[in-house]
Amino acid sequence: MVPILLRESSELDAAASLVEWPFILPHEFVRTLVAEGYLNVLVGDVKDIPGFWEHFLKDFPDHPAADGDKRLRSLGFTLYCDEAQSLNDNWMHLIFTSDLSPYLTDAGASRFLMTIFPESRYVLNQDTGVNETLQGACQIIADSFNKLANEGVDLREFPSEESILVATLHCFITGFRGDWKALKQVFNLRRHASTDEICWLCKACKGLDDDQSPLIFTDARDSAAFWGTIGLEDPWSQSPSYATLVGFSGPGMIHADLLHVYHLGVGRDACGALLKLMMSKYPTVFFEGNNIPAKMQAATKQLKEYAALHKLPLRMKRFSKAKISWKKKSFPELKSSSYDTYVISRWLGHVLSLAQGRNDEINKWATMMWAINLVLSLLSRAGRWLTPEEQDNKVVVGKIFVTIYLSLAFDSIQNNERCWRVRPKLHLLHHILLSSPQSFSNPNSFSTWMDEDSLKKQMKVLRKTDPRSAQLRMLQRWLLALPQKFDMCNKKGPS
Ligand SMILES: [Zn+2]
Repeated sequence: MVPILLRESSELDAAASLVEWPFILPHEFVRTLVAEGYLNVLVGDVKDIPGFWEHFLKDFPDHPAADGDKRLRSLGFTLYCDEAQSLNDNWMHLIFTSDLSPYLTDAGASRFLMTIFPESRYVLNQDTGVNETLQGACQIIADSFNKLANEGVDLREFPSEESILVATLHCFITGFRGDWKALKQVFNLRRHASTDEICWLCKACKGLDDDQSPLIFTDARDSAAFWGTIGLEDPWSQSPSYATLVGFSGPGMIHADLLHVYHLGVGRDACGALLKLMMSKYPTVFFEGNNIPAKMQAATKQLKEYAALHKLPLRMKRFSKAKISWKKKSFPELKSSSYDTYVISRWLGHVLSLAQGRNDEINKWATMMWAINLVLSLLSRAGRWLTPEEQDNKVVVGKIFVTIYLSLAFDSIQNNERCWRVRPKLHLLHHILLSSPQSFSNPNSFSTWMDEDSLKKQMKVLRKTDPRSAQLRMLQRWLLALPQKFDMCNKKGPS
């Protein structure tokens, strides 16, 4: 138990005080794992360590892992944060993963829980808006990881094969991922989706104050002015607790999450707009039926056949006007789960490719969907680090998607239509697709599919616990199930 600042209850006038709160401190957790013989769930093969740092240090050459022979005997960890709903509250989850884990695609064996707490008891600073509860918790985590960075884990204390090769393992945080809303609170971001300047990486803006601003985020050109502002100014209102982590190297370590940005963002806009336009503008080309409900039915049937043929699971039952937010005054948006967005993007790419050549507009749509599907599949097939060719393809083909999407959005505004919504997430997609990091890091490794999966499992456990002691029971149950989970994975081999 560790004291953190919380309101005593969720009552609005409840006083803030230091409350003893359950935590699984990372330095204790990692040392226990090693002592109990589970080093292999943190690093599949110690021989992979130097290669990892060789890539990473290209982006962050001044990182302490570059000192002496540390790159031969250090582990990297990524921190994750997100809120999820259960027991009538939103619970903040603070989780970490080991970058070299052999089980990264197994949520249960690779997502390590540190603590959870309910949103209703946050202490928010009235003047600065800073979430003091969260900053306090992050400071505890930073201090704990700093023990692992400075003192490390002495392997000689534990009998293991690896101790012959490596005497002390140091551990550093190499990156952060999570949903934008959670990242905003963890990093006290003053530039975010709801402000004029939107991006923690650069100074791109919406142009609310000046729609001629050269920094407008909808600038798709290679020469867009915002590219020149990366790292110019810190994006936080107050230095965040994580900035005290040994090796913290600035906002460049905070990664945009492809899942929230495309599958729960731009992808939903693109699919919604396409479905609406394909049915209304080209009534005889894509889907049979004399009216929209009949066309929705035909589209559903086509989609289901496509999903079955390609063995893609589909959660969505049917298309409808409500499902794609088909209203006069609002932008269409497909209300889909993240995986359904992936399946529907692929299916639309296929349907459009069959109609390619009819006219310029359909060609544009087909090329746009071909581009995004190609990039998504390239990234999901590639490893932790892209090859130079993969990175080039990501940028070249990614640019095709962004450019066409923005040109469609621009044309629809000119025509006074509400189609092709341009939201700040499109700018994050811009960063994901068009940046060429020296390290060749694959943005897919910062996508939160598995983190979300672990969250879902934890929320299921939480639902069965008494709300008064949920935070403690949750951590205890999670810990209890771990050895069995690890043993099962070790038996099966790397995922
Ligand atoms: Zn930016």
